This record gives sequence, C-alpha cells and structure tokens, in this order.
Amino acid sequence: MSEAVDTTVETGVTPGAEHAAFRDVLAKNHAARRKPPQHFVDMDADERIGAMKDLGLPKFRANQLANHYFGHLTTNSEDFTDIPADKRDELAQRFFPTLITPLLVQKADNGTTIKTLWELFDGSRIESVLMRYPTRTTLCISSQVGCGMGCPFCATGKLGLTRNMSTGEILEQVRAAAKAMRDGEVAGGPGRLSNIVFMGMGEPMANYKSVLSAVRQISALPPAGFGISARNITVSTVGVVPGIKKLTNEGIPLRLAVSLHAPTNTLRDELVPMNRRFNVDKVLDAAHDYFLASKRRVSIEYAMMRGINDQAEHARELAKRLNHYGDDWAHVNPIPLNPIEGSRWTASKKEDETQFLDILHAAGITATLRDTRGDDIDGACGQLAAKSLVESATAAATASAVKATVSAKH
Ligand code: SF4
Repeated sequence: MSEAVDTTVETGVTPGAEHAAFRDVLAKNHAARRKPPQHFVDMDADERIGAMKDLGLPKFRANQLANHYFGHLTTNSEDFTDIPADKRDELAQRFFPTLITPLLVQKADNGTTIKTLWELFDGSRIESVLMRYPTRTTLCISSQVGCGMGCPFCATGKLGLTRNMSTGEILEQVRAAAKAMRDGEVAGGPGRLSNIVFMGMGEPMANYKSVLSAVRQISALPPAGFGISARNITVSTVGVVPGIKKLTNEGIPLRLAVSLHAPTNTLRDELVPMNRRFNVDKVLDAAHDYFLASKRRVSIEYAMMRGINDQAEHARELAKRLNHYGDDWAHVNPIPLNPIEGSRWTASKKEDETQFLDILHAAGITATLRDTRGDDIDGACGQLAAKSLVESATAAATASAVKATVSAKH
C-alpha cells in the first residue's frame, strides 16, 4: 500500500500571508497560471498502476518505467526495449510529457559552470545552474516561476510570483543535469551529480508539497529515485517558519539554509519583507530547532550589501544573535551581492567583507565567504530568467502596442 497523497494544489502564496501585514508579491499573470501536464513523478504508486491499467498494461510496467527514468535517466521511447514495441510511444506520451525545454545555455569557469534557461509548457521561464568542483558536482534548481517574497535587491523578487512548479518540472532539471554529467557533457569528463540545492528561483517552502515530493524522489535509491543522498540536498528559505517546522518533523537529514541578510528586525523588515510576518527571532528559533532535531548545522545566508548590512555593528549583532543559542549550530555564508543594474544595492567593499568575517570568527562563529560561481554569466539567484522574462514582456507589450496602432488605423 502506498501512502495517501494530498492532491490539493498549493497557491504558492506563503501560509498566513493573506491575513498579515505582509502580502506576497504576485506577478501580473499570476491568476492566469495553468497546471503543467501530469508526469510520471507527479503520481504516487497507486496512480501509476491505475494509469497502466487504463492503458491495458500490467502493473510491473510502472516499475520498468521508473527504472528507465531514475536508473537510466531516459524518457525516450526507443530506449524502452523491455516494453512491447507497440506500447512504447504511448507510454512515453502518457507518462513523460516534455515539461522543460532549454532556451539558452551559458558556460563559465572553463565549462565547469553551466547555467540553463528553461522554458516550461506555458511559456514560463526558470533556470538551473550546474557547478562542478574537484570533489562534488552541485545543481542549483528552481521551485517556483518567479518569487513572491519581494526582496527589493533581487531580480527575481522584482518579477513577483507567477506559479508553483510541479514535482515533474523540478525533477526534470535534476534528470537533465545527472544525464549531462553521466554522458560527459560537462568539462572534466563523465561524472556523477552529487549535490542539489534549492536556491534557484522561488521560495521552496511556499511550494512545500511538490518540493518535498521532489526531495524524496531525488534521495530514494533507483528505481524509486535518483539516489542522491539526502545529506547532500539543501533546501533554502527566506524564513517561512511554518515550512521550517514542517520540515523539522519530516526527519529527513537535509541541510537547511536560511537567507537572513540582516541581524536586526528594523533592517530585515526593509531587505526581506517576509520579516514582517516571521521576524529574526522566530526564524532563528525555528532554525535552531531544526538543528537540534536533525543534528545538521544550519547555513545562514547573508548577501553583503555595501554600507547597508556589511558594517562591523552588523557582524557583532549577528554573532550575538547566533551565539545566544550556543556554539557550532550554524555556519554563516556571506555572499557577495550580484547587483541588479541601476539599483541602490551594490556589492560590499573587499575590506568590509574581510572585517565582517574577522568579527564573526573572533566570536567563535564559522563563516566562509561563499563562492560566487558564474559571476560572468549573469550572476546569482534568478537574474538570467528575470532578464529574459523582462525582455519578453517588453517585446510582447511592444507587439500589442503595434497591433493596437495598426487596427486603430484601419
Ligand atoms: S532573494 Fe530569494 S526570497 Fe528574496 S525575492 Fe529573491 S528569490 Fe525570492
């Protein structure tokens, strides 16, 4: 018997946001969002068997398909050689609709960083970034189209939230990267995708069910999943406390990353609007509970913004807040900000970064300046997709303006 699956669709709006002072930022086309076609990985075991029955096939075919998808990383009907030839295409169409199509691929760091802009079934765009290091290969994936959190320094935040991504859309990013690594398409020769971080577009906790289902299928061993250890999966959040609490109760040894960006409520209210709903104390309480339950050190992400949150007083306050809970439970990752053109938020000076780290270290806090891979290919968190979306929105607006002028003339 498989577990009962809750089939209600999450809106993507953060729990409680409708009733609080804080309101998620929604994209103009938020209401027009549609559901992606159902994929094999969107179904539980019973649904897969039921769908097989509808096609007149025995249930063991579901296991064969799982093996093709997770074990051999293929959705190509020509590879389904253990399935009757006259059924292969039908199965591929029913269970493996095309959910993501690459629009643009950018490479950096001698081909070891690959950023892909994907188009989804409804024309939405998201991105993923593959980063190969000597001892691991990490894929940063998106979980929502846009993001509703509205952080003013972030390109994705400016777009607002269009919709949640399905488990299929999330996992297809993983399959594509795992296949590229296996087939030697990434500089350095054939290898294995070893780490996943949910740090692309979107707030994973606002799409909890699909993200969790994706996490379970990333970490399960083939043929139930891709076999990437849960310990090598990081789920990030801007501080959606109900999501952190739920994740704590799941008992999966994931790494939690919290995007704090400011040590005080006054400053964080300005940088991260979600702080008005779940403030620094609530977020750190929940993060520390996660550490106690999982025994996994929590990552505290901190985008360094010149003259705004990168001064000595901020480092001291951050150290005080973290040390309040005891030693060695959190690891701070100051991240050099990759600024949006024309915005008032710019990257910190080198000497301020060094001073910030020195103060944290002196207070006994582990902190490492995060590597900003792919700096020369449009930077961090959602910027490529954001840029391209803004361009296509402008093109569409121009096209409809031209159309309106033409029809007004006739
Ligand atoms: S910084 Fe992260 S949480 Fe904030 S708007 Fe950007 S993607 Fe969303």
